[in-house]
Parts: sequence; C-alpha cells; structure tokens
Amino acid sequence: MKKLGFGLMRLPLTDPADNRTIDVERTAKMADRFLAEGFTYFDTAAPYHQGESEVAFKKAVAERYPRESYIITDKLSLFKIEKAEDIPSFFDTQLEKLGVGYLDYYLLHAMSESSYSRACEFGAFEFAAKKKAEGKIKHVGFSFHDSPEVLDRILTEHPEMEVVQLQINYLDWHDPGVRARECYEVARRHGKDIIIMEPVKGGALANVSCEAVELFCAARPQLSTAGWAVSFCASLPGVIMVLSGMSTEEQMEDNISYMKDFQALTDDEIMLCKRAGEIVKNDNAVACTACRYCVEGCPQKVAIPDIFRIYNNYLRFQKANPEGARRGYDHVTENLGRASDCIECGLCEESCPQHLDIRAYLKEIAEVLE
Ligand code: SF4
Ligand code: SF4
Repeated sequence: MKKLGFGLMRLPLTDPADNRTIDVERTAKMADRFLAEGFTYFDTAAPYHQGESEVAFKKAVAERYPRESYIITDKLSLFKIEKAEDIPSFFDTQLEKLGVGYLDYYLLHAMSESSYSRACEFGAFEFAAKKKAEGKIKHVGFSFHDSPEVLDRILTEHPEMEVVQLQINYLDWHDPGVRARECYEVARRHGKDIIIMEPVKGGALANVSCEAVELFCAARPQLSTAGWAVSFCASLPGVIMVLSGMSTEEQMEDNISYMKDFQALTDDEIMLCKRAGEIVKNDNAVACTACRYCVEGCPQKVAIPDIFRIYNNYLRFQKANPEGARRGYDHVTENLGRASDCIECGLCEESCPQHLDIRAYLKEIAEVLE
C-alpha cells in the first residue's frame, strides 16, 4: 500500500468564508488523480467541514469507484455524541453519508485521558469490536492527542486496537508538549501500525523561514519543504500511512511526485529535518494546525485558525512589513469575528487538541494587527 493518505479535512471550497461549501467537482478531480497514481487511502471524520466531508467523499469517490478500489477511514467522534445510546445511529449515519456498506478503518476520535474515560463509560471499545465482528469495520484503532503515559495505558488496557493515529512531524518530534517521539516509541513497543496526522503541521512546515529552506535546498533541491516534512514521517519504521489534508491540485501533484515511488530519507537527512525543526521553533509562531475544531463553538465567530495563519506569516516573513499582514488580517475577518471580539469564554481552548492558549494569543494579535 502506498503511504500517502488523502485527508478530507481541508478540501477546496466554493465560498472561502464558509467551510461547509466543499467544491465537490474539484475534489472529484483530485480524487481521480490520486487513485490513478495508485494511492487508495482516504481519511475523514464527522466534524470535518461540519459534516460535509463525508458527503463529499460519497459524491467524489464512493459513487464513482468500485468499493474494493479505495480504503476509507472514519472516526467515532464522541465529543459529538451526548449519550451511549446515540452511538449506533451516529455510526449508521456515517455509513450512509459516505455511501459505503463497511469501513476499512474506524478510529475512536482524538483519545486523551478525558475522552478515554468517556469512551470507556460509553462502551465505545465494545461497540467497535461488535461492528468489527459484524464485518462493518475491517480494522479498529484510535487517533490520539495526549501524553505517552496515557497512550501506554490505553494500549495496555485495549490490546485489540490494531492501529494508532498519532500527530508526528519533525517540529513536534522533541516538543515537550506533544512528545511525538515518545508516543511513537510507545506505539512501536506495543507493535501497533502507525498512521501519521499533521505531518506538515497544518501547512506550517510547508512555509518555513528562509534559513530552513536553504538547508533543505542544499541537500535535495527537487524536494519541496512540505515534501521534506511528509518524507520525514513516511521514513519512520512501522508507519503505514501519512495523511495530507490536500486543498489544491498543486499540493496533490507535489505530494504525488515524491510519494509515488517513495524513497526513505537517509539518517543524515533525518538529522537535517531535526535541525530545521530547531530553526522553525525559534520563529515563536502559534502552533495551530488549522484543524478548526475550535471554530464551531465560538459564540463570537472569531476566525481563530485564519487569524493564527496570518499572524504566523507576519512573525516569519512580514515583521518588516506589518501593513501587508494587517491587510490579510482585515480580509480573513471581513465577515467573521476579530481577535478583539473574543469574550474569553474559553470554549475554544476546551476543543483544541494542541492545548493552545488561544485567548492569550488573540490578545497579543489584537495588539499587533488591529
Ligand atoms: S474564548 Fe474567545 S475565541 Fe475562544 S470561543 Fe470564547 S469568544 Fe471564541
Ligand atoms: S486553535 Fe487549536 S482547535 Fe483551533 S484550529 Fe488551531 S489547533 Fe485546531
């Protein structure tokens, strides 16, 4: 199986201000290219594009290709479910929206210490096992955002889990908050297959500072900066899939170019990625992955990830030209809340898998960009 997965959480939109308006025609063309090059793996979840990602998959892939020609992963998003009795209908709705009779992988979504307790309380592991026995799920696992200790506990208590989806990239490898290397090692110790999410950290590692770009160019000029980030992940032993949330045809063509006949990075090249990680870390940018989990619940409709993207670009490239960043900021907040509209309710921070201090960042940004 080729190791590049098409993450369906950042699909092209017909209206950039409305995350639900997926451009299905473009998505279908991208899926055609992807499948034509021998890639097969698609990843989605109910919260992506506020429920529209699953429907887009049905129209772009399920209705146009035989079931055996692709692999589809969906997730049990317990944070979208109020009580255990609602899980079966949540699952049935997913199959219906996707237009498939079974899932290749079903992952308990975003496990952490607290969501693990909820999963146990709701009987989520038992539900997944039952659906697997019925043939509605081929493989079970979970995606994960917490410490290696919590990961070790879940894998010890649930050895039936076949696969773990982890946030790994060269920036987070040694990050004391994410502890990507340690989580990776725990999963390896338990002998699990590993799927990697956020290899480019929500696009941040496609857009690194000149100093890091120069390092990469000197080693392999033909490989893009995003290509280095994805290759770092795909080179790790035990990794069966690296997800890329592709939004444009250009990103897809770039990914295809080096993942089609993937060649693992050498030890020296892995070291170089880690050095680049040190450089990127010193940018002091906001470690937002643009997952958008925080957006839906914000009472002020603050454009949180878009504001962070503009601010990161400002920190990395535009400090000498803040006016350019302010124009970008005005544009993304034209029909949405600005940083200063935040009423500090804290709801966004509860749903942020990166545990970002969103309110503090917004205050800082309001001072700089408004
Ligand atoms: S803390 Fe601010 S940005 Fe976060 S949800 Fe509340 S109002 Fe929105
Ligand atoms: S602030 Fe957190 S929840 Fe919101 S998009 Fe960024 S990483 Fe995701």
